Amino acid sequence: MSTSERVAGGAGTEVTSMRSHLCGRITDADVGVVVRLCGWVARRREHGEHLAFVDLRDFSGVVQCVVDGAADLRSEYVVAVTGTVRHRPEGMANPALATGRLEVGDCAVEILAVAEPPPFGVEDRVEVDEGVRLKYRFVDLRRPRMQANLRMRAVVNAALREAMTRQGFCEVETPLLWAPTPEGAREFAVPSRLHPGSFYVLPQSPQLAKQLLMVSGLDRYFQIARCLRDEDLRADRQFEFTQLDMEASFVTQDDVLGFVTETVLDAAEAATGVRPGPIERLTWADAMDRYGSDKPDLRFGMELIDLGPVFTGTGVRAFAPPEGVRRHAVKAICVPDGGSMTRSRLDGLVDRARAQGAKGLAWFKVTATEGGAGLESPLDRFLSDDERAGILAATGAGPGDLVLAVSDEHRLACTVLGQLRLALGSRPVGEGPFRYAWVVEFPMFDGVDAAGNPVPAHHPFTMPHPDDVDLLSSDPAAVRSQAYDLVLNGWELGSGSVRIHRADIQRRVFDALGISEAEAESRFGFLLGAFRYGAPPHAGFAFGIDRLVAIFCGEENIREVIAFPKTQSGADPLTGAPKPLAPAALADLGIRVPPPAPGPG
Ligand code: ASP
Repeated sequence: MSTSERVAGGAGTEVTSMRSHLCGRITDADVGVVVRLCGWVARRREHGEHLAFVDLRDFSGVVQCVVDGAADLRSEYVVAVTGTVRHRPEGMANPALATGRLEVGDCAVEILAVAEPPPFGVEDRVEVDEGVRLKYRFVDLRRPRMQANLRMRAVVNAALREAMTRQGFCEVETPLLWAPTPEGAREFAVPSRLHPGSFYVLPQSPQLAKQLLMVSGLDRYFQIARCLRDEDLRADRQFEFTQLDMEASFVTQDDVLGFVTETVLDAAEAATGVRPGPIERLTWADAMDRYGSDKPDLRFGMELIDLGPVFTGTGVRAFAPPEGVRRHAVKAICVPDGGSMTRSRLDGLVDRARAQGAKGLAWFKVTATEGGAGLESPLDRFLSDDERAGILAATGAGPGDLVLAVSDEHRLACTVLGQLRLALGSRPVGEGPFRYAWVVEFPMFDGVDAAGNPVPAHHPFTMPHPDDVDLLSSDPAAVRSQAYDLVLNGWELGSGSVRIHRADIQRRVFDALGISEAEAESRFGFLLGAFRYGAPPHAGFAFGIDRLVAIFCGEENIREVIAFPKTQSGADPLTGAPKPLAPAALADLGIRVPPPAPGPG
């Protein structure tokens, strides 16, 4: 059964009081059958003096109908057609159409609704401005590609629900009007009419609600949950997005990884027809060291190579450890066939590396010599023979290849090369093979905030790695957490963690984060209070359904798999949202909006 058949309820369920068949599902077996079809006029072509060909479209596809040429049928009119299925005459078949060998003849047509000319052609190959597409989204969604995307999404949702339910998870809906949540993004606030001056906050995720459900003894919770974050929009980010959200009690990290793996593999199988193999696992430290990214794209090689041993005790300043660096590294990537890059392209890469904070980027073109291979580089004359040989041996580079190297603080060197690796090797996210990966043992903290306090890499309820708890006060930067991410083709699909359920550990984490008891009480008091009534050990995960579906659909932007998304600037051209509120409505909410500030001059 195809994706669209599954969502439509399967072959045979298309019959309604108004139609007998679907346009795209007419087959040879229907030849001679009188059918009644309903849909939109996709195209009309005159056929001789008295007849016209009308391509009739519904969600399942298109079929050609031969109608009376006098009928006034224009593009996108909604019609019901009754006629007899027959083979098209010899030589008239259209192989591009599933029904291309057939047509419906002797048609009687009833116009169900007239239509204004559409703002753009309802065909996949028509290029249309994004703003226009979203303003007329109801027409845009008629296009086959968009129909397929929304139906793919429904197939994925159904598979996710099925897998979660099968594994004993209970679906619970949590509130949208809620209080601040801990993911750290800017939040949307909703003014309260009954409590003027007070606001609800739209949840960045159901994080706190699902932890409360664990205290309630629900044991295994899931939800296809809408999450809202007021962050700058980009290809993989919208204000509102949908997560498969889950939480379970009396489980370890491995249990959660098992639940999620099973669920994602089920969804992948439902979407693509192929069940991916087991999902590989790597630690965050390994991912950074080998790919320079915590969301490594494993579809291609170009792994980061450690040139540290080649340059131990080197006389080349660029590769010697600078003063004050905590962990120095010389890392490199080998770009196959990159040796033909022009000088200006190489200069562009150097600029790029510098823009990301590196002190520089060394490049070596590998050339063919009598002895085998040599290096061409502004740095070549400073290298010893051993260093030259060491670079070639460590990278495995051969004539025609390019080696790029960064000598810097380990994390910076890795990140910069990770970005260059992507810039030089990456492919569209939806291009197979699909490479899933679990990244585990994330650091507990990621940098420091303006006040000098560590920032939680996941959220403040994440359990530290059991071996690192004592480092919380002495060396927070070295603390690993029990947080994990799922990655697909270089996109982060989702994150989760084992949660802290013990007040003493939570206090130590808050101390490390510089969160006082009073602040913890005011921000998360209701959760911490609930924990005093008996919190089971628990852990959870959430992953973005929009991202997963976009990858399955081969789309680079999650807007393409969301029925009514916002533009890059957060606007909705269809409804005009966001819009000013009428003065009476503002007064009702107790809100006064200051007049716009006078412009300059
Ligand atoms: N609430 C987290 C998030 O949305 C996921 C989790 O830890 O379950 O990123």
